[in-house]
Amino acid sequence: MTDFPAFSTRLTAWQKTAGRHDLPWQNSRDPYRIWLSEIMLQQTQVATVIPYYRRFLVRFPDVRALAAAAVDEVMAHWAGLGYYARARNLHRCAQAVVACHAGRFPDQAAALAALPGIGPSTAAAIAVFAFGQRAAILDGNVKRVLCRHFAIDGFPGAAAVHRQLWRLADSLLPEADIEAYTQGLMDLGSGLCTRRRPACQDCPLTADCRARQQGRQAALPTARSRSALPERSATFVLLCADGRILLERRPPSGLWGGLLTPPEGPVALVLARLGLKARHCQPLPPLRHSFTHFRLTLEPVLCEVDAPPRLAADGYEWLALAQAATAGVPTPVGKLLRALAGAAALRGQMTEDG
Ligand code: SF4
Repeated sequence: MTDFPAFSTRLTAWQKTAGRHDLPWQNSRDPYRIWLSEIMLQQTQVATVIPYYRRFLVRFPDVRALAAAAVDEVMAHWAGLGYYARARNLHRCAQAVVACHAGRFPDQAAALAALPGIGPSTAAAIAVFAFGQRAAILDGNVKRVLCRHFAIDGFPGAAAVHRQLWRLADSLLPEADIEAYTQGLMDLGSGLCTRRRPACQDCPLTADCRARQQGRQAALPTARSRSALPERSATFVLLCADGRILLERRPPSGLWGGLLTPPEGPVALVLARLGLKARHCQPLPPLRHSFTHFRLTLEPVLCEVDAPPRLAADGYEWLALAQAATAGVPTPVGKLLRALAGAAALRGQMTEDG
């Protein structure tokens, strides 16, 4: 498949001298820690993950502790990392490892990939780093390296290109040093062969990189058309009383499943659903948020009610504004609540000064 037999040799040698060796999840064969880091690192930068990873391990030091925890607590420790389906699957996966594998992660990539939330590339990474298995990874960074080095055209998410990349990734696997080779692919993709302005002059693969030879680093991998992303909007009703705000636990599946958000829907319907009467309602500036598959405009409406009334239904909480922003809420809602808490604090200060 490839004309470049020295690909893995050069990459492995480069990783040993110039790659990363001191990340918190490295130098360990513990599949729990490796699995946790791999899930957190999906679509998320290393620097963002490190504090979450450390806090998570303090609270959930092993797979049994995670499996025994309440899903709400897991979600709260994940809040801010985004892509919340990962946290729900993390919890389900821990429970499956305990229930079906006596608390031990299986050592083969295929068995790992059968667990909730573990895709083929993540399964391969765990099999490599925890068990020394010879398995190919193919995450977004690796796709970028392969598309550039071998000048592969076409959107990597398209089925035919995706299959071609998997075949290529398999064919490149070295017979030995699988850990350094796999880490090398990760390090190269995140450190040198970056999305913008790759550092080709420092790259161990530069001599025969086709993208570099053709001057097409910026054009590869072929981008998906962003213009096709659908637009959605949602109204959030910010019900406030005595410095507190009402948050609702969302259903476990769907957007932001299991997290807390203000009740969603047209104001009149939300008030009727909760049996509340508002003294005063006021629309706030909309907030835009991009997801992989769509763009969302949040349209917040601030409604003041007399005092935090008791609600008969489960799943609702009245929280102090400052506390609400750090409860298990999605990132854009946290931003909204912090702005609201800041404005309320300022109003309070002006009242005292006046
Ligand atoms: S030479 Fe440049 S484009 Fe090619 S693999 Fe290396 S960093 Fe990426």
